[in-house]
Amino acid sequence: MPAVSHQAPDALQILQSVFGYPVFRGAQAEIVDVVARGGDALVLMPTGGGKSLCYQIPALLREGVGIVISPLIALMQDQVDALAELGVRAAFLNSSQTGDQAFAIERKVRAGEIDLLYVAPERLMTSRCLDLFGSIRIALFAIDEAHCVSQWGHDFRPEYIKLSILHERFPDVPRIALTATADADTRREILQRLQLEEARQFVSSFDRPNIRYQIVEKANGRKQLLDFLQTEHAGDAGIVYCMSRKKVEETAEFLNENGIPALAYHAGMDQRQRSTNQSRFLREDGIVMVATIAFGMGIDKPDVRFVAHLDMPKSIEGYYQETGRAGRDGQSANAWMAYGLQDVVQQRRMIDESEADDAYKRVQGHKLDAMLGLCETLTCRRQRLLHYFGQASDACGNCDTCISPPQQFDATVPVQKLLSSIYRVEQRFGAGHVLDVLRGVESEKVKQWRHEKLTVFGIGADVAEAEWRAILRQAIAMGLVSVDYEAYNALKLTDAARPVLRGEQSVQLRHYQKPVKQKRRSTKSDYAESNLGKEGQDLFERLRWWRVETARKHNVPAYVIFHDATMREIARLRPTSLDQLRGVSGVGERKLETYGAEIVGLIAGMSGEG
Ligand code: ADP
Ligand code: ZN
Repeated sequence: MPAVSHQAPDALQILQSVFGYPVFRGAQAEIVDVVARGGDALVLMPTGGGKSLCYQIPALLREGVGIVISPLIALMQDQVDALAELGVRAAFLNSSQTGDQAFAIERKVRAGEIDLLYVAPERLMTSRCLDLFGSIRIALFAIDEAHCVSQWGHDFRPEYIKLSILHERFPDVPRIALTATADADTRREILQRLQLEEARQFVSSFDRPNIRYQIVEKANGRKQLLDFLQTEHAGDAGIVYCMSRKKVEETAEFLNENGIPALAYHAGMDQRQRSTNQSRFLREDGIVMVATIAFGMGIDKPDVRFVAHLDMPKSIEGYYQETGRAGRDGQSANAWMAYGLQDVVQQRRMIDESEADDAYKRVQGHKLDAMLGLCETLTCRRQRLLHYFGQASDACGNCDTCISPPQQFDATVPVQKLLSSIYRVEQRFGAGHVLDVLRGVESEKVKQWRHEKLTVFGIGADVAEAEWRAILRQAIAMGLVSVDYEAYNALKLTDAARPVLRGEQSVQLRHYQKPVKQKRRSTKSDYAESNLGKEGQDLFERLRWWRVETARKHNVPAYVIFHDATMREIARLRPTSLDQLRGVSGVGERKLETYGAEIVGLIAGMSGEG
């Protein structure tokens, strides 16, 4: 902590002097207050909401070490480096260290030289660690990614269950649990398993207004992705999620071949390669990371401009968490996804074939239904998402369904034709064959089974194949048709199909929407140019160069030096003195001390040139 006057600093002073931010956001001030006074808290905030300050500031305000429990070992070094840039004495203990390194940190902790200590949960449970904690003054425990305690959640970590030991061993130390996963069941589970029943709960709005949601029907996913990247995100950093390792590698290669710098990341790669790629993504500008969901938790790169899904996630929680990694700096960002029939079929199969018990499968089935509902919705995506998290909202105007509302049509007759065809081929054939029969295609298989003789043969010839696929996909999503994975993915009718076949129930569906070639919109320089004149733009570019150099020298990601938003503000204000620079959001005392003179000098130098 930087030197302060004789009086103990208050929370706002620390926010301004250490972090360089003028005001608290949302519930931050209240949360900091509760924890600084020794109370427990449960904090639910979307990614990018500003959770870290909620424990970092109380840790600096209270006597002793703030212990942060986090499962994200790979990111601890960066977190500690970023704090060091702010002048905060931070360290970590995890399995990546040698015995000697750990010993050195423990000695510093004992000597009172550390304000914030990051610890992996499995490390915390060792008697050595618990002994250490028993012998020092602890300011607070922060339990980050607290949803990892939820057994039915998507990030379950068994070590998290044991964290109730904190309350038993250190009953007087305040605890703050934080997560971006919002649903009420998970919240209950966190409170109960961590014995946080007394905690004050802070549930923020989950809306991320700067993210634009867009879900397109998949035709040729990779090409659609390329088009999206080329037209909307030239030069931007972003993440592309795929389901399988193979697809991750193929997609990364495909993007590279097409001139987009892309790296791969999945659990099958060796540890070294993975961390090299992660670190390049964080440190270099404009890299696209193609990854399985093994990538991303805790990634706090603020300038991820898009998150794209080439496969549909299993649940809305997953989707929201993954897309939430875009636009943490509050600037506009895109969440884009391509999904199709295959996604629906594959995800249902994964649930059916999993070895979990029925209760678990039922929960997963509901989660999948909600996800499909989001994909097929005729109304605002954001409204749907927020509703899922128990929050009411109006149509947003910043998602694809708001911007160009999908066409809805009465699909009762086509759906009846589809259902009859499935029935006529005795529910023994998969999608390809059923659609051939419907459309009157005389394939080998059709001839082999003499299906051209069926009354349904060709009754759907007036509708294009893509439209039929969209209809079938929606019929499966709605539960009118099921897929029998044990019998070559044969399509079957469910009980819900009967009233439709008998004409007792009508069906409304979305029209298939042809992928339209997108018009070039925002590019990187458009972002930078916003509100900056030509001069400001030049200065901004100069600052970027300076930042790249400086980040390299300090061996930290560029955004740890200054965020884009901070640099843009500097470029706009052109401060000519340290005092002027002090007022810029994101410039704290330590950074002013370290970089202030350089920046002011750089600006003076440029004015001289002009
Ligand atoms: P979370 O952990 O909730 O995803 P972070 O703690 O990483 O979010 O904060 C997201 C970004 O917002 C960070 O870049 C952080 O520096 C910034 N931030 C947090 N609080 C404030 C604030 N009060 N004023 C300005 N920026 C803030
Ligand atoms: Zn909307």
